[in-house]
Amino acid sequence: MHRSTQPHSLFGGLLLLMALASAAAVMAKKGAHVHGLVKLDVAVQAKTLTVQIQAPLDSLLGFEHRPRTAAQKQAADAVLKQMNDGARLIRPPAAALCKAGKVTVESETLQATAAAAGTGARDDGHADLDATYEFTCEQPDKLGSIEIGLFEAFKRIQTIEVQVAGANRQSKVTLKRPDKMLRLGR
Ligand SMILES: [Zn+2]
Repeated sequence: MHRSTQPHSLFGGLLLLMALASAAAVMAKKGAHVHGLVKLDVAVQAKTLTVQIQAPLDSLLGFEHRPRTAAQKQAADAVLKQMNDGARLIRPPAAALCKAGKVTVESETLQATAAAAGTGARDDGHADLDATYEFTCEQPDKLGSIEIGLFEAFKRIQTIEVQVAGANRQSKVTLKRPDKMLRLGR
């Protein structure tokens, strides 16, 4: 005697809908980048200063597709080189006695191998570059402000939105070109 399986398929349909909705939410979140606006996350934990940068590729390079011409490849290499130079982009005060450590620079669009060509581009045609810089500071109490070299290095960046996380507080700071001094309020 078979009862209808309808309640089960309804439930299955609901799960599928929920999965689709959350996938759409993730995609919408990923698509939210504004050209000219760079996001910075700054965290100080004991002696470790960590700065994360999330930048639209357009703001660094002027385009967001895979480099095709020789000139575009050269420009892309120059951007990767600049972004790897953490000591030039992030300048803590000398009194904090910081030493530059690990640097990670990631951009699927610029770094993908030829074999992976065609993948990694976002559906909406946008692309980001993410970078993380670590410093070890002997005097973290002296990290009152950090000079950010992004405006000098990249003329297309207009605004930097900074999220600062310290031992006991979080704050948000917005830097507008040409103001490069990030005050941490320590
Ligand atoms: Zn874009």
